[in-house]
Amino acid sequence: MSAISKADIEKIVREVVGSLGSSSATATTTATYTSTHYEGRKLLGIYSDMNEAIDAATEGYKAVRAMSVEKREKIITAIRELTRAEAPIMAKMGVEETGMGRVDHKTAKHILVADKTPGTEDIVSEAKTGDNGLTLTEMAPFGVVGAITPSTNPSETVICNSIGMIAAGNGVVFNPHPGAICVSNYAVDLVNRASRMSGGPDVLVASMDKPTMDSAKIMQTHPAIRLLVCTGGPGVVRSVLSSGKKAIGAGAGNPPVIVDDTADIVKAGKDIIDGCTFDNNLPCIAEKEVFVFNNVKDRLISEMQKNGAYLISSAQADALSEIVLVDVTDKKTGKTKKSVNRKCVGRDAKVLLNMIGVSVGDEIRCIICETGFDHLFVQEELMMPILPIVGVSNIDDAIELAVKAEHGNRHTAHMHSKNIDHLSRFAAAVETTIFVKNAPSFAGIGFGGEGHTTFTIAGPTGEGITSARSFTRKRRCVLADNFRII
Ligand code: NAD
Repeated sequence: MSAISKADIEKIVREVVGSLGSSSATATTTATYTSTHYEGRKLLGIYSDMNEAIDAATEGYKAVRAMSVEKREKIITAIRELTRAEAPIMAKMGVEETGMGRVDHKTAKHILVADKTPGTEDIVSEAKTGDNGLTLTEMAPFGVVGAITPSTNPSETVICNSIGMIAAGNGVVFNPHPGAICVSNYAVDLVNRASRMSGGPDVLVASMDKPTMDSAKIMQTHPAIRLLVCTGGPGVVRSVLSSGKKAIGAGAGNPPVIVDDTADIVKAGKDIIDGCTFDNNLPCIAEKEVFVFNNVKDRLISEMQKNGAYLISSAQADALSEIVLVDVTDKKTGKTKKSVNRKCVGRDAKVLLNMIGVSVGDEIRCIICETGFDHLFVQEELMMPILPIVGVSNIDDAIELAVKAEHGNRHTAHMHSKNIDHLSRFAAAVETTIFVKNAPSFAGIGFGGEGHTTFTIAGPTGEGITSARSFTRKRRCVLADNFRII
């Protein structure tokens, strides 16, 4: 393996972080790739049949079980190094394949995963001693994990899940999003290359060349799969939670932001635009709608405009809404409802503005508009750099509306304020897994905030900011009447 030095890594991080806020780099790669090959090289661990992929992941699990923790950690270190070195490749490929997001930000997301996803140190044992001797509780692997991954953070999720699941001693089989299968499988291959380079098996984790709902169903019912981990929208989370197996569900969010009149408005304007536009609003934690006190609303809008926001009129917002949201008929109920137009998800602000005949330069990274609470921009999880702003007269109204807009997902919420009563009241009322105070949303996943990172935030099933220990089961060993040293 070509080792990458600490200085090189620091240089990459400096360059990536320094480029945040600049326009998207080109997403065109000169590489040729499919879901099974990259530049003519066959990717490791990719199968055409889910049963075969599960068999391969089972062999991977046996290999991990036979390894020392030190060896597992060696593989994880290699995954981190390859991820840092190949982050720009996956970032470009991800944007090119999905048409979503920004190369510079996707590069930063991969480096974040490499640096801040916990490894084997996250697995800790507990000992209890007393009159009756010693009881030991250890965090054991589940076995083979079946993981479903999204199109929005595809390779980031594959690598983050792999590090945590391997650290916990599991095998993994992925059923990635079909729309991001090439970059997801590139990440699966990266994990396997790291294993091979560190003396582990060639196939530690497995995936499908053409994942489908049917292959997901096989995964959900196969007896070798002991744990399902699903990162995606409401449909797929519902599906794994009704599978009858132990499941971790990381589902949709619609994070509101409250700005009150004690906030540092200059900082709030910048932070909100930085967070909302990170990877063109693809992260499920990104700011999706703002509730701001009326007496500071104009100042906040002005600060946002200084940071690359373009203010559109309500007529323009309605015209944009007709494009970015489309009618979808529910097959079961026959009812029609609005749903996001996948062609608009994760697109640059200037591309979206062009759709309503507005031409702007690369300096515009977000579209803002004043709307009422009922506007679809407030109610729907758009995952695009469009930010509706609703004026409110006091903290009671702000909290009531923000909690409603979050739709009970209990995922993520943000607030800019210096009033600790307001901050505490909103945090308690909204009950989200992540609550970020006075910072951009990405501080909540360890980017400029304390704490480890994850791209699987399990609100519905309660694991929260998942890490290796989330993928373990507790086992107890009791040694009665002995083995105390006092
Ligand atoms: P998606 O729900 O369209 O797809 C996720 C995965 O599920 C894909 O692999 C897809 O093929 C599969 N899938 C969809 N329906 C399925 C079903 N019924 N049975 C089996 N598999 C099924 O998600 P997406 O568009 O790629 O990602 C965006 C959504 O995911 C957003 O709602 C976002 O908030 C959420 N998300 C949540 C987290 C989190 O950590 N909580 C992280 C990323 C994305």
